[in-house]
Amino acid sequence: MEPLDRSTIWPYESGEPGRFYYQRYAHPTGVAAEEALGGLEGGEALLFPSGSGAITALVLAFCEPGQTIALAEGGYYGTALLLGALEKWGLRFVEFDQTGPPPDGVDLVWLEAPSNPFLTMPDFEAAAASPARVVVDSTASTPIYLRPLEHGADLVLHSATKYLGGHSDVLLGAVVCRSRADADQLRELRGRLGIVAAPDPCWLLLRSLKTLRVRMERITASAQQLAERLRAHPGVEVVRYPGFGGLLSFDVGDARKVETSVQVVKNATSLGGTESVIESRSRWEGDRVPAGLLRLSVGLENPDELWADLEQALG
Ligand code: PLP
Repeated sequence: MEPLDRSTIWPYESGEPGRFYYQRYAHPTGVAAEEALGGLEGGEALLFPSGSGAITALVLAFCEPGQTIALAEGGYYGTALLLGALEKWGLRFVEFDQTGPPPDGVDLVWLEAPSNPFLTMPDFEAAAASPARVVVDSTASTPIYLRPLEHGADLVLHSATKYLGGHSDVLLGAVVCRSRADADQLRELRGRLGIVAAPDPCWLLLRSLKTLRVRMERITASAQQLAERLRAHPGVEVVRYPGFGGLLSFDVGDARKVETSVQVVKNATSLGGTESVIESRSRWEGDRVPAGLLRLSVGLENPDELWADLEQALG
């Protein structure tokens, strides 16, 4: 493994700062993790202490007061809350249906592939035709299933807390830039703001990226089976699943009963870990989601055991 270097300072070389001199600007474990992720996405990656920290830094770096962000509706509700919190600094956002073109006259287009928890995929071509910068939150796809920079995106966002970290033991975020100029701009602001990932989480990401492909392939095979079985179950009204990855959502009559009846699947929030988790999203998102919507993140367990558990919980 790459070494874990927790130093906050490194000696100057012949009286001048070398590549590493103060951890807030760059540190070797962070750079190694950024190179690994950048290689997978085909761009230049920068790491942040959480996905939300990455969103904040990205918006502050590339938007000005008075500008408008077009945000994919039905995406991660925390992104809308975060952009709402930034409104007092003069930023506006409008939600739009990402399966069609973004509205005219916006300054940043924010897509989510697939959206969490509605699992829609964006119209990349329509978004790329917009003169605005395009960001794709690719948290639920991972670079195993989608490389947004190849579909016209300028920036990719990840909550690396999810599949990239993959074990529910690290909070981390990433932005991957297509252009060197964007990466330099964001890196400089990150150093100023201090919203930078520490060495330990970066080291955990490095370790986890080595198993990303096998985890995603196993998770996808299980999720495909479960989506099919859920679709055939009389107690399930609608199943949303894009056909890849481990995130799906489905509607039932009594979500609370199902989430509290599972035994193998954990009743917990978040997604992307080795263990399957399920939760009713209306507890967080209110009437933005159907009352009966359950979000399931499929893990690495035996899919037959997962189905037996879901079946008994569905009653
Ligand atoms: N983007 C998506 C799609 C998410 O699901 C989340 C968290 O749930 C975030 C961003 C925010 O990431 P974090 O929790 O690491 O701040």
